This record gives sequence, structure tokens and C-alpha cells, in this order.
Amino acid sequence: MRELAVKPTKVIEIDPSSPKTEYILEAARVIKEGGLVIFPTETVYGLGADALNSLAVRKIFYVKNRPLDNPLIVHISNLDQLEILSSDLSEDVCRLAEKFWPGPLTVIIRKSEKVPDEVSAGLETIAVRMPAHPVALKLIELSETPIAAPSANPAGRPSPTSGEHVKRDMMGKVDVIIDSGETLFGVESTIIDMTRNLPVLLRPGALPVEEVQRMLNKEIIIPESARGLIEASEAIAPGMKYRHYAPSKPLHVVETRDYGNLERYSLEVFKHVKGLIDKGVKVVLLSTVETTQYYRGVKTLNLGSRKNLFEVARNLYKLLREIDELDIDIAVSEGFEEKGLGLTIMNRLRKASGYNIITIN
Ligand code: AMP
Ligand code: MG
Repeated sequence: MRELAVKPTKVIEIDPSSPKTEYILEAARVIKEGGLVIFPTETVYGLGADALNSLAVRKIFYVKNRPLDNPLIVHISNLDQLEILSSDLSEDVCRLAEKFWPGPLTVIIRKSEKVPDEVSAGLETIAVRMPAHPVALKLIELSETPIAAPSANPAGRPSPTSGEHVKRDMMGKVDVIIDSGETLFGVESTIIDMTRNLPVLLRPGALPVEEVQRMLNKEIIIPESARGLIEASEAIAPGMKYRHYAPSKPLHVVETRDYGNLERYSLEVFKHVKGLIDKGVKVVLLSTVETTQYYRGVKTLNLGSRKNLFEVARNLYKLLREIDELDIDIAVSEGFEEKGLGLTIMNRLRKASGYNIITIN
């Protein structure tokens, strides 16, 4: 693997509110030369390479230890690049692009011959989005090429939502890390497959699927795998068959079908946690502003308020990482109603738990 060895990592700090072109230019040069750059987006940090350079793209898989059959998302900064990547754009795809880009929506479309097979993991389709982060947009523009970038974490681990996370995970493995502090949404983009008869949600993300549904005025199919309930077994979204977002310690998710009576629900969660503690297991509970009062004597981490799921989604990966630093044996998390960002949060929690789900009535 000698040809894949990378140079020492250069960290460039860039203030996202006034990004200096000269600093981003340095990173863009690295992309043009086939190197790897970690950059901020409004969702999570990405590990980027020139999407049209197959050797550069291969390095991404190597550095992340990512299975080769898990395709990447291609990031663009203008719509001309979309035409390079795909030769047949549907009217619906153009409407989505106009309404939601730049922003956290990824569309799956048929790919053109210019896109190397490595990017799409051999599929005839590719995932594309235009990120809404000034540094990401400027980097793509100055690189003069679309940038293929998965989340910048080692495969299977929680995605990085801050410069600190990427420095901890990736120093010495990439050419450049652009540190622009914390990302806005803290969860990945929403992925919709637009190559089928009806749109299919492959991954719920930072853009609530209901908003896409309203705009298209069409049913969007939500398979069980998008809810994080089962693993996808074949090609439509190959990435979904791997364990994802996981802390190294065990995680249980305690769910209910009805979050209407939070006091009753919390008492059931408490019973589960107490059962573990009584066996001598050290537990931390991921709870919410509304429920923490019911867990006296239990160590808790605050996910945020149930009235502000944006905040919960934004805190999620940070807390999943924190679990590994604590002196505990098992983490338990509360569940959320699968509406809006609640669907996204549940997808991540269920997968992070390795489907270790306890449902109470
Ligand atoms: P990540 O970069 O970690 O957010 O992963 C990118 C996600 O995009 C993975 O879950 C892939 O399964 C998905 N993806 C990328 N390209 C395709 C494609 N052509 N078809 C279906 N899913 C895709
Ligand atoms: Mg990822």
C-alpha cells in the first residue's frame, strides 16, 4: 500500500463567517494534485478527494477503512457540475436542486461515464449534493472539480461534527484538515433515490423528508431500513448494510409507540436502567430536558429538548463519542417519535445500538 501513504497533515483554521480565499486555495491545490482534504459542511465534516480522479478516490476508502462497495457522495458548487456527473436529469431532480440546494439533501441519479467506478462502488447511479457551507462551496469552486466525500470518521464510528473530532481521528492520515469549528446540523444529509418510479428515502437526514414530500407533491417510499430497523441487504443503498455511528461501548435504545405520556415512559426507561444497575452494571442514560427529572440517582447526559429536535440531532454524535470516554459499561438512550428530525435521530440511534432496541408498550 506504499503508493497510498500520505504526507504529514496540515491543519488550516478557517473562520466560516469570513473565510480567507488564500487559505482555501492551499487546500484546493491539494485536491487538484490528487490529495485528501477534510473540510467542514453544514452537516458533518467530509473527507474529500477529486471525484474525477480514481486514484485519489481510492485513498478515501483506504484512510477510512471503508468497504469498497459503499459508494460516496459527490459534492458540487454549481449546477454545471451536475451536468458533468449525469447525462439524464429529470424534471423532479431539477426542482429539488432549485429548492433545496445549497443544503442537506442528496439525490441519487444515473451517473455519466465521466464518473469513476470507485465513486459509485460500481453502481450505475451516483449520490450528489451541493453543501451549504461557505468553506465547502469555496473549496469545490477553487478545486475546479466535484469533490467526492464521505463523512470523515473511521468507518462505522460516529461522524465528526467539530474540528476537534477530525483532528483526533485523522491526524497523520490526510494531507489537510480544515478546522472551522462545529458544524450546524451535526447529522448527515437526507438521501433520496430519484431513479425509481417513486422517490425512495435511503437515509433520513438534516432535511426532514416531509419537506421534500411537500415540495414534490408525491409519495416518498420510506423503507424499514431508512427507519434504522433492518439492514439493507442489497444494492439500493449499500452503505446501509454496515454497522454505523457506533460508540465502542454497548448502547440500548428504549422506545415506545406513544411518547404522549412522558412521565409513564420515563418510569419504564428508569426500570430498564435500574435493572442494569442492580446487576452491578455502570450505566449512563441519554435523556432529555423534559425527562431527566425522573432519573434521580442515574448518571445522565442531556440530548436536549424534545421540543427542539434540531438541538437533539446536533448533540447526538458528540454524546455518542462522549460515551466512550466515560467510566461506564453500557449506555442507554431514550427514543423519539419518528416525525421530522425524529426519524433521522431514530435511524442513527437504532443503528448505533446495533439494533439493540427495547420497545415498551
Ligand atoms: P457517508 O458519506 O458516510 O454519509 O455515506 C454516503 C452514503 O451515501 C452511504 O450511506 C451510501 O450508501 C450512500 N450512497 C452513495 N452513493 C449511492 C448510490 N449510488 N446509491 C445509493 N446510495 C448511495
Ligand atoms: Mg458516514
